[in-house]
Amino acid sequence: MGFFDKLKQGLTKTKTSFNEKINDVFSNFRKVDEEFLEELEEMLIMSDIGVDTSVKIINQLRERMKKEKIEEEEQVKQVLREEMQNILEIKDKELHLSTKPSIIMVIGVNGVGKTTSIGKIANRLAKEGKKVVVAAADTFRAAAVEQLEIWAKRAGAEIVKREEGVDPASVVFDAMKITKEMNADVLIVDTAGRLHNKKYLMDELNKIQKVINKEMPEADKEVLLVIDGTTGQNAISQVKAFKQEADITGLILTKLDGTAKGGVVIGIVEENQIPVKFIGVGEQIDDMEIFHAEDFVKAII
Ligand code: GDP
Ligand code: GDP
Ligand code: MG
Repeated sequence: MGFFDKLKQGLTKTKTSFNEKINDVFSNFRKVDEEFLEELEEMLIMSDIGVDTSVKIINQLRERMKKEKIEEEEQVKQVLREEMQNILEIKDKELHLSTKPSIIMVIGVNGVGKTTSIGKIANRLAKEGKKVVVAAADTFRAAAVEQLEIWAKRAGAEIVKREEGVDPASVVFDAMKITKEMNADVLIVDTAGRLHNKKYLMDELNKIQKVINKEMPEADKEVLLVIDGTTGQNAISQVKAFKQEADITGLILTKLDGTAKGGVVIGIVEENQIPVKFIGVGEQIDDMEIFHAEDFVKAII
């Protein structure tokens, strides 16, 4: 299956739900007027795009209606596509990993898909010919280390691990040393996730960041926040909470294959101005795509 077909398949539920809602609005369509715009706005909000972002899109549509004489259903759809794409097109979509070594830290709440995403990214980078090391800095459960080990094996990456319960920052410290000794290209750090225990988690993240900045001050660093796409609007508050504590450089949106709430991407990007770098569309090692705004929008409308 080609790149775009796979993306479309992953986003089937979002697309179906979007199309049903859009068709509902257009089934009563007579002309583009205030009543119609209101219905369309409600439709966008129901599609998890978020209130503020939906209002913005409709305001744009209203403006363009006046200037461009938008009258037909297909024209309205095209404007929606363009406005969504505009929101999603923000800079720095690529990973910045130009130094050797460079480092990626992956953060987020429990169960969002951090470890799985690390496996997928490690695999991607290995395929590009990079030597990858992963650090098992989720030392909270022994099972977390075992899970990362399985992914590392699949991706052909080296793993640095220690016993359960040790200070995660010390695992990262060891991993940086080993990465340099091995002359590896990229170190990817897995972390434990707990939002309810926020203070502890954030102190731990700060400590890891401090150790990284001390030992690899010159290195390119990515801090990727993983968000579970099935959580809808709650995802927006997670980004807000983590943004206050960590220098997030990008988002990974996972589980878009299992949800009709893929529209949430648009609200998240618009409200935070942080680029989505990858989207997860399944549990297999290849089920991750670099985020392309145009393809994404085409796949849902
Ligand atoms: P972590 O706690 O953040 O490290 O999350 P895990 O990587 O352990 O993933 C939690 C669950 O989500 C696992 O069952 C994964 O297989 C599943 N998962 C992760 N990413 C995706 C995805 O893109 N699509 C689907 N359907 N499942 C995913
Ligand atoms: P502290 O632990 O609160 O004193 O904070 P530091 O910034 O001094 O170190 C943070 C963590 O990095 C420490 O807790 C260690 O786990 C780890 N670390 C720092 N220096 C070393 C080192 O020389 N060797 C090892 N193995 N770990 C280190
Ligand atoms: Mg994990």
